[in-house]
Amino acid sequence: MLSVVTALQEAGHRAFLVGGCVRDLLRGQSPRDFDVASAARPEQVQGLFRRVIATGVQHGTVTVLEKGARVEVTTFRAEGAYLDGRRPSSVDFHDDVTVDLSRRDFTMNAIAWDPLSGELVDPFGGQADLRARLIRAVREPMARFLEDGLRPLRAVRFATVLDFSIEASTAAAIPPTVHVFRRVAMERIQQEFDKLLRAPAVTKGLTLLQQTSLLAAFFPEAVDRDFEAVARAPADEAVRLAVLLLGTPQAREVVVRLKYPGRVAELVGALAAQPELPRGDASDAALRRWLSHLTAARAGPLLAVHRALGSAPAGLQARVEALLAAAPPLTSRELALDGKALMEALGTGPSPLVGQATRFLLEVELEDPSQNTPEGLRAALRGFPQGFPQSGA
Ligand code: ATP
Ligand code: MG
Repeated sequence: MLSVVTALQEAGHRAFLVGGCVRDLLRGQSPRDFDVASAARPEQVQGLFRRVIATGVQHGTVTVLEKGARVEVTTFRAEGAYLDGRRPSSVDFHDDVTVDLSRRDFTMNAIAWDPLSGELVDPFGGQADLRARLIRAVREPMARFLEDGLRPLRAVRFATVLDFSIEASTAAAIPPTVHVFRRVAMERIQQEFDKLLRAPAVTKGLTLLQQTSLLAAFFPEAVDRDFEAVARAPADEAVRLAVLLLGTPQAREVVVRLKYPGRVAELVGALAAQPELPRGDASDAALRRWLSHLTAARAGPLLAVHRALGSAPAGLQARVEALLAAAPPLTSRELALDGKALMEALGTGPSPLVGQATRFLLEVELEDPSQNTPEGLRAALRGFPQGFPQSGA
């Protein structure tokens, strides 16, 4: 990162670290990635480094690969008028870092730092707000939120992840600009919401989302849910979403709409469909039948959901762990008779009868796993109700 700034400055261009990395450094945290802002135009940046990716040249961004690290170098720019509350209608490149800082969202994200000279450019009082742990819009909050409807959600996300407060006039500008937030692409919303959802202070984040009416605008199913329970759940997106959606019939579709990956939506759908768990004193057979239906892999996440909500029956967790430790067959694939052996035993070729017999044997095995041997299952087939031949050949 230093070598990138050095190369730009040696070529005669102003260059600073900006954005999240400066904020994190000032807070004494190590940044995850480094963003450089520079007066150099994208073509000039591309000419200066050997390994570059033209990430978003039309917006002035080039990614420089240096010693395994990726550094985004963006030309100082001012943004033109926003036409639809989603993206600027034009980008003007500039030679002045202050112009670039004035288009940024919050004061703590609008500080530039020259790591070579140590110069800090902080035109909006970002350092003071960092010390006061305040999220404050750069310039007039209402105008900035009307420009880009994602910013209100970013304010709540930063307040949650950093455990900061939102400065009063910045917070007050959120409800009246929700109509612009409603037009933001769900992919962008999801990225911010997911960071909020995994944060330790998630209860505060969800409460702020609801108070500012953002939550009702993109995730109405979560309104008035138990936000404290979410913080008690592990920081896993599926478990936390299921805490918010337990018992919601269309949970899977809701999570698809929120643009989470299909596997997350499947899992949340399956978890949310289990608002009630077996009792802690259920029989082993009943627990095996329940696990077979649920799948063993979902037992842990489902128990985590109910523990967070305080609805996990006493003793159930230990019972399930003990049962799973014995690794009983829970699927028809684990039966001691495979399809071929079963057809032989039934004296038939492929037919719907085979599927019915498989389900029958799985029931037998879940009731008493000791019967899961070829002989045991052949013997059990004599009780199979579908006109089964007695020879057992
Ligand atoms: P994180 O550590 O979570 O990545 P970040 O501050 O780096 O936080 P990014 O989304 O990576 O957040 O954005 C980088 C910088 O770009 C921000 O610090 C801010 O200066 C600016 N920025 C990002 N999104 C917006 C926006 N919607 N409006 C104005 N400025 C923005
Ligand atoms: Mg970042």
